[in-house]
Amino acid sequence: MDGVDGPRTRKAVQAFQAASGLETDGIVGNLTETRLFTGQLGVIAFDGDSATAHFARAEFACDCNGAYCDGFPAEMNRELLLKLEALRNALDTPVIITSGVRCPTRNAEVGGVEKSQHLFGQAADLYAPGIPIATVAAVAESLGLYTILYEDRGFVHLAV
Ligand SMILES: [Zn+2]
Repeated sequence: MDGVDGPRTRKAVQAFQAASGLETDGIVGNLTETRLFTGQLGVIAFDGDSATAHFARAEFACDCNGAYCDGFPAEMNRELLLKLEALRNALDTPVIITSGVRCPTRNAEVGGVEKSQHLFGQAADLYAPGIPIATVAAVAESLGLYTILYEDRGFVHLAV
């Protein structure tokens, strides 16, 4: 530890970024800092009401509203939650989840594909008020998320 941001530090940062699904530029920017921070604090906790620092577990519940399931036919994928938290911090604005996990009946009802990742808690649809969908998607992609833009419907589908 010499306190110098030299080539070896940069290499270590790049290795961390690669392991975290981030762009490997070797620079500790917002996303990398958030990933370091959330990793250290272990914000993913399903025991209480919080999924992460900024998202409540209930925000990801199946929106059949109890008609066909108890709200969580599957739990949300932890890596996805961590990346959604990093996304929210990078955008520095509230992020609205329009669809998290779905039971098969609800998924069919909303026209989801048969093997939709929503069934397994591996996808979330969302938007950030005031921020273009394409911008949200670009940041999500830099975090290693798989994205499908639904610009006409005003949300982006993000998956691990
Ligand atoms: Zn349901």
